[in-house]
Amino acid sequence: MSTENAQPHAETKEFQAEVKKLLDIVIHSLYTEREIFLRELVSNAADALEKYRHQSLLEEETFDSHLPLEINIEVDDDKKTVTITDTGIGMDRGELEGNLGTIAHSGSKTFFTKLDDAAQKDVNLIGQFGVGFYAAFMAADKVTVQSRSYRMDDAGHQWESDGVGSFTISTCPGIRRGTKIILELKDDAHEFAADTRIKSIIKRYSSFVSFPIKVAGEEINTVQALWARSKSEIKDEEYADFYKFVGNAVDEPLLRLHFSADAPLAIKALLFAPDSNIEKMGFGRTDPGVSLYCQRVLIDQHSKTILPEWLRFLKGVIDSEDLPLNISRQALQDNALVAKINKVVTSRFLKQLGETAKKEPETYEKFWDEFGAFLKEGVVSDFTHRDALGKLLRFESSASEPGKLISLAEYVERMGEEQKEIYYINGTSRDDIEAGPYIEAFRKRDLEIIYTVDPIDDFVFSHLAMFDEKQLVSADRGDLKLPGDKDEESEEEKSEEVKAEEKATEGLTAWMKEVLGDKVKEVLESKRLEDSPAIIVNPDAFMTSSMERLMRSSGQGGQQFGAKNLEINSHHALLQGLAELKKNDEPFAKSVVEQIYDNAMIQAGLMVEPRSMVERSYEILARVVKP
Ligand code: ADP
Ligand code: MG
Repeated sequence: MSTENAQPHAETKEFQAEVKKLLDIVIHSLYTEREIFLRELVSNAADALEKYRHQSLLEEETFDSHLPLEINIEVDDDKKTVTITDTGIGMDRGELEGNLGTIAHSGSKTFFTKLDDAAQKDVNLIGQFGVGFYAAFMAADKVTVQSRSYRMDDAGHQWESDGVGSFTISTCPGIRRGTKIILELKDDAHEFAADTRIKSIIKRYSSFVSFPIKVAGEEINTVQALWARSKSEIKDEEYADFYKFVGNAVDEPLLRLHFSADAPLAIKALLFAPDSNIEKMGFGRTDPGVSLYCQRVLIDQHSKTILPEWLRFLKGVIDSEDLPLNISRQALQDNALVAKINKVVTSRFLKQLGETAKKEPETYEKFWDEFGAFLKEGVVSDFTHRDALGKLLRFESSASEPGKLISLAEYVERMGEEQKEIYYINGTSRDDIEAGPYIEAFRKRDLEIIYTVDPIDDFVFSHLAMFDEKQLVSADRGDLKLPGDKDEESEEEKSEEVKAEEKATEGLTAWMKEVLGDKVKEVLESKRLEDSPAIIVNPDAFMTSSMERLMRSSGQGGQQFGAKNLEINSHHALLQGLAELKKNDEPFAKSVVEQIYDNAMIQAGLMVEPRSMVERSYEILARVVKP
């Protein structure tokens, strides 16, 4: 039907005051994201189709019941028009006047309540809003709506306006059920009179609308909104295809989460973890890959707010019908509803990861291998989910086979009755850790210790702090006290021999401290060493050696970090020999002390000054090979 069919019994009416104001903004200042007018009109058409489908089930008879339920879009490049036709519920005269002449309906009303005077002047801010039907005036300087209600006894009507102050309604007989909207494009909006442009806008915003959308006869939205269907009906290949579509991907997804909730919020989510972590491959920071929809219509593509940043590797869709379609991107950021959806979906995802770890350990291992770094980032940055994330962390430990990973929960399960803390030590590799002095005390006591081989791990543990109410303790802490350690014997209990030995050691440690000066905080007799002569430990519980390495490598903190303690094993042959050497050749004995310190620092993974260290060690070697 064309506009020429309109009958003359026309009636012109003023727009409601708020509508005038809104239209004024739309016409004069809205230019950003102008293409959303199409999203709004297509959404209205889809709503109308949905309403018709519902109504047709209730009524005995509806007008034009044979029409297929669909949306058609035609452009006319000569006349510079875009026409959107639906076979939905339609509007009678009163509805045309009420719905398109006042703001009584949901969408634009939110727009208005959100918009204060200051915002109304800010073109950018306004541009981020959807304004419902009136968005048509962003692109058109004249809009004609022809509509025929589904009711048998109605007739067609036409509504037209230039969006300035008034609209005109007249009768329009002989038209089909539904609504046709003809946009006469503004001079600077002629780009929209091209099929290709229209198709790409429809693909972007309206790909999942549940009625066919045809542009010049070609159906554009052929991909189904898989998330809205029930899980049991969906095949794996369908999921994989969908992933490739929404994730713009070529790989097969590693994991997926498909869930829906009705209370407290209506949420449907379909999320995928890709096969591999692009960030790990050195492609820089990934952009978020999950988009926010409201009833299958795009609200925020690759949303920065709908999931925490550390879940940026996920791809997929979150749909909530509780969200207003017309919400601005600005408003999304501090929207309480969005925050709630974020929390619910994140918790669900973490819960599912836990289940996967149990039921499909190999899949989880692969996931951890690829995306574990993101979960660690979550522990450090996201207090809300910290405890849940703690359960998903994986490490090697003294009790695991090389290359196999354990969870903190497994560690806790194996803990003996006396053990109250969870122990860990950082090093560059399992071999490196096992060759070093830090695990001697654990080996001797048969205590399990976690190996944290990722430089970031100690940072992660310092944020996690506790797991299952047990403190996480680095084995290079100065105040380490292991289960089974006896308290100091009282002076009276000690034999004369022990007392003499202690005195000798005290003499040695005091002298060593003198030699090392400010390089160490204290030199102490060690309770933890078995085979090694010396070990560096940290009096400051936060500044473990690994943390120090991390901070140095990121250029923080300058040169001076918390001073270390040097613990010595006075029963070791080297220390016993040293005590003798000190009596005969003190200058040389001092060199040996410096070398012991440097060696212990190297074993702690900390930097020493290489030039003097090498010179000194040659000096010592020269003495050894002297005939
Ligand atoms: P909203 O969609 O948020 O209600 P709109 O400004 O987009 O706000 O639309 C206003 C009203 O106009 C709708 O609620 C609906 O009743 C009516 N309407 C708009 N487009 C159509 C259509 N194609 N068919 C039937 N009714 C429509
Ligand atoms: Mg609408």
